[in-house]
Amino acid sequence: MSLRLEVGGDVALTCQRCLGSLAHRVDIGRTLHLARNETELERLDAMPDADAILAGEVLDLVGLVEDEVLLSLPLAAMHAEGECPA
Ligand SMILES: [Zn+2]
Repeated sequence: MSLRLEVGGDVALTCQRCLGSLAHRVDIGRTLHLARNETELERLDAMPDADAILAGEVLDLVGLVEDEVLLSLPLAAMHAEGECPA
């Protein structure tokens, strides 16, 4: 079983240079394979270009989306060089 995850939207980050607001576009498209157990997880993980997660009876979809969004954000958000508003 696999899950197609698509998340899009704008989030406001804080620029680490000027501390101003910085709009960041989130655009995630990923396919996650859902493994039912460790064995299946290892098998799926071995496939090229596959992202597998261990999913129990209940899948924490909100947590999953949250993780994906957080992972996609830059560690230190900044306006481009010289583009901080004065
Ligand atoms: Zn800035």
